[in-house]
Amino acid sequence: MAFDVQKIRNDFPILQRKVNGYPLVYLDNAATSQKPQVVIDCIVDYYSNYNANIHRGVHTLSQEATDAYEMARKKIQTHFNIAHLHEVIFTSGTTHGINLVANGFSTLLNKGDEIIVSALEHHSNIVPWQMLCERSGAILKVIPINEEGVLILSAYEELLSEKTKLVFVNHISNALGTINPIKKIIEKAHAIGAAVLIDGAQSCSHIKPDLIDLDVDFYVTSAHKMCGPTGVGILYGKEDWLRKMPPYQGGGEMIKEVTFEKTTYADLPHKFEAGTPNICGGIAFGAAIDYLNSIGFNAIAAHEKMLLDYATKELLAIEGLKIYGTGSEKTSVISFNIDGIHPYDIGTIIDKLGIAVRTGHHCAQPIMDYFNIPGTVRASFSFYNTIEEVDSLVQGVIKAKLMLT
Ligand SMILES: *Cc1c(COP(=O)(O)O)cnc(C)c1O
Repeated sequence: MAFDVQKIRNDFPILQRKVNGYPLVYLDNAATSQKPQVVIDCIVDYYSNYNANIHRGVHTLSQEATDAYEMARKKIQTHFNIAHLHEVIFTSGTTHGINLVANGFSTLLNKGDEIIVSALEHHSNIVPWQMLCERSGAILKVIPINEEGVLILSAYEELLSEKTKLVFVNHISNALGTINPIKKIIEKAHAIGAAVLIDGAQSCSHIKPDLIDLDVDFYVTSAHKMCGPTGVGILYGKEDWLRKMPPYQGGGEMIKEVTFEKTTYADLPHKFEAGTPNICGGIAFGAAIDYLNSIGFNAIAAHEKMLLDYATKELLAIEGLKIYGTGSEKTSVISFNIDGIHPYDIGTIIDKLGIAVRTGHHCAQPIMDYFNIPGTVRASFSFYNTIEEVDSLVQGVIKAKLMLT
């Protein structure tokens, strides 16, 4: 099937709207993606026809909702190639998944153990580990980056030792677009007996990860960056680890038996799913995965690579413009600045032209500190963006530059 971007755009109602009198040019996909009609319909269908609480009711609506929710879990298992269905834990998103693992490890670490994170991390992948270190007396070590915004693997190997218990790296950096060599990172950690958690929040809209092949211990992602709704995501964990970790939150759904003397916990995955979950969100996450697969990840990658190459070339033609994140392995994210201009000012001016980009530190302040900048303008492209939209961005940036210098 040929890739027809105009046809794909018709699937997204929001892409038809205008902003400040101009057609919307949505280039903030690294923050959240837009939603296709099939996902919106799925949400409306759930609340219109079979809204009910799950897993407990004997009535028809509850069974229909339970079946749809558990079918979504199955779709997620298949999509990510996960060995066991009970290794798929529904969460409220990436941040929740990371905190769940950090909390679980607080009982498994000893004083002086070491945790390695990368310098490319999102704040949500830094702060929970700092909190974990405070609680457990473990020590946080950081894999440095080079001028291209690429992790220095030799430095990573030097950090690894018998003290290392955990390694946490994102699959793709949301701030720079760098794709990290996670397979190598996982192999090296396993060689010394450390566990690895991969933050897939930024990768799952571009790449279909094979978790059995990666042999990763934990993988987290959010639905909202892959055409699904906000407030839902998954944690994948290898069964052994999930059994070793204590529950994160207590409540309904996660228990087997409760008395005031002793409570026993439900089996996996429910042990980590306290309370009424985002039922509709989970079901719509399944619909989003179906939608992405109907387009195909090879087609998505090819189109996005074309946009990335074209936008990189056109932007670099603007005098004084510098791109951060220039490694050869990167996805369709361009972080840039223009000499002497604050990124916020560029973002504000091009918004007047209907162009949505992100400005600031992108929840990754340590990266900005490394480059000694307050932030960047970040344009992040999705499979539904077009060459014409790249042209609008470039024209907008040129106009902003003229106004600001
Ligand atoms: C978006 C993002 C997160 C946070 O995801 P939430 O959905 O806000 O929990 C974490 N890491 C990376 C790399 C991201 O891009």
